[in-house]
Amino acid sequence: MFLAQEIIRKKRNGEALTTQEIQFFVKGITDNSVSEGQIAALGMAVYFNDMNMDERIALTTSMRDSGTVLNWKNLGLDGPIIDKHSTGGVGDVISLMLGPMAAACGGYVPMISGRGLGHTGGTLDKFDAIPGYQTEPDSALFRKVVKEAGVAIIGQTGDLVPADKRFYSIRDNTATVESISLITASILSKKLAAGLDALAMDVKVGSGAFMPTYEASEELARSITAVANGAGTRTTALLTDMNQVLASCAGNAVEVKEAVDFLTGAYRNPRLYEVTMGLCAEMLQLGGLAATEAEARAKLNQVLDNGKAADIFGRMISGLGGPADFIENYSKYLPQSQIIRPVYADRTGFASAMDTRELGLAVVTLGGGRRKPGDALDYSVGLTQVCALGDQITTDKPIAMVHAQTEAAFEEASAAVRKAIHIGDSAPEKTPEIYKYIRQEDL
Ligand code: URA
Repeated sequence: MFLAQEIIRKKRNGEALTTQEIQFFVKGITDNSVSEGQIAALGMAVYFNDMNMDERIALTTSMRDSGTVLNWKNLGLDGPIIDKHSTGGVGDVISLMLGPMAAACGGYVPMISGRGLGHTGGTLDKFDAIPGYQTEPDSALFRKVVKEAGVAIIGQTGDLVPADKRFYSIRDNTATVESISLITASILSKKLAAGLDALAMDVKVGSGAFMPTYEASEELARSITAVANGAGTRTTALLTDMNQVLASCAGNAVEVKEAVDFLTGAYRNPRLYEVTMGLCAEMLQLGGLAATEAEARAKLNQVLDNGKAADIFGRMISGLGGPADFIENYSKYLPQSQIIRPVYADRTGFASAMDTRELGLAVVTLGGGRRKPGDALDYSVGLTQVCALGDQITTDKPIAMVHAQTEAAFEEASAAVRKAIHIGDSAPEKTPEIYKYIRQEDL
């Protein structure tokens, strides 16, 4: 028998907790037998005194097991259960292409995604831009679409990881979000509850990233790789660039359009292509679907070129209630803003830096994200044709197009875009799309 206050005291004094103590505390979070004050106190003690990897693994697995853990065994699937997760970005539309690409190569992808958070976009909000698409299907439909299409991208169901729901909301208002141990457990408990064999984790770096510095992003990536593998899911973390909008656009409907164009080959932004391929190739290798990076990339290029990935995207959409002809006729289904107009820089030069976080907030302000929980979104708004770092800029070539519903919103967003995209005298040094792979053997 344990006492919550004694567990808090132990962590406050800088000692390591046992697996049994952590399991007891997480059970208390789930069944309300530990109080909000006790949870906040433990969060703060962990913030200051941290957890070692064994404690993080115990916290992650206890939280994962606090609700339903999906089990795919009785579906008789003939491939591995694989997934990707990102710490969040701006113009990060990767999941929409990567899920169908991985499925087209023989994997099964039951992807549980989130809504926009802060300045970052949310995969679920993008799917909500598609009429009819159910982001909260019942479990039977979710399983059916995973089995038949190979991929289903949906929202978190009520019975997945209840411990994180309570813990996260308390962390959020007691200044304990920024703990690598707690972030690791929060992210991984939710992902691992999907019953995954393998996971590629996209940890963003740069001006639009959730973590404030490269070093902090790398520390999180190492923690995630160690803990996920320790919890039994083969995992690699990639450190990828978020110093500029990842796709050519940011918003909901506009990103869905870019995803379809990517899958059909109509347009593939080179940065988006590199990061998508890097993550997806790692998923295939971790899942045993390719022996080498070269083999994985060849398979992925093949399913892009032969239309199989695009076909699977269409099947997932219709399987979850969206239009059967979405790929062919997406422009008929996606909403469009009243005003679609260019923004120009006020000097010539080169796009030298981007405050990507501010660009994400510009989309939120346009109505594409939430100012407070529960706000309704305008799926049509956003930015398109966003220039890339290093582009030569003249005063008659747009640095972006703003999609807005009113003149006032257009003016506000244009000013934000002009402020966030810095024009210098020379092109900046090119940053890599992928900085580093952190595999289990690298730890
Ligand atoms: N995202 C999560 O899901 N949890 C955290 O703690 C931080 C980001």
